[in-house]
Amino acid sequence: MIGILGLQGDVIEHISGFSRIGVETKVIKLPCDLKEINGLVIPGGESTTITKLLVSSGLVRPINDMIKKGLPTWGTCAGVILLSKGGILENADVKVRRNAYGSQLDSFITRTRIHKIGRDVTMVFIRAPRILEVGTDVKVLAKVNGDIVAAQSANILLTTFHPELTEDTSIIKYFMKIVENSDLRQGYGFGHHMPGRIT
Ligand code: GLN
Repeated sequence: MIGILGLQGDVIEHISGFSRIGVETKVIKLPCDLKEINGLVIPGGESTTITKLLVSSGLVRPINDMIKKGLPTWGTCAGVILLSKGGILENADVKVRRNAYGSQLDSFITRTRIHKIGRDVTMVFIRAPRILEVGTDVKVLAKVNGDIVAAQSANILLTTFHPELTEDTSIIKYFMKIVENSDLRQGYGFGHHMPGRIT
């Protein structure tokens, strides 16, 4: 079961992306929703708003604990900002700059090859962040005009664009491979320790 953080942003688009490949999802709004998930998506949206809602819903600590324990986690766009250094879910060794491509009018669509997928993929950038620096343990999966747009740091997948807004399910399938190869694929562990942590 894949959890989709459902506080703000393109939650429905992620749910329908996973349903197109037959994967069940669960919307995460409160700590108790985190039980039994074996993967988590932090969707695109507005990172300041999602940050405030993560704090008020009590999700920051349980999500951070689960990511540190290896929960496969995929951040798209605002999700990348939250997972990067200085973000509230700071777990990936990457530095980003918000809205680095300019205003809404500078949003764009392009096609680029993704390493690991092995072919061109349509990439939708909407007021995207720019990944400025990555740590040595971070694998770069794709670049557009020299900028890193997809990267992976162990259990964390980062895409500064929005695969869920296209028909192409290859990145969703790639994330599912990370989930399948994870030791946490049975969803064990999170279920038992969560109740004690919910305050
Ligand atoms: N510009 C947004 C932010 O800084 C991210 C945009 C997106 O997720 N499409 O939070």
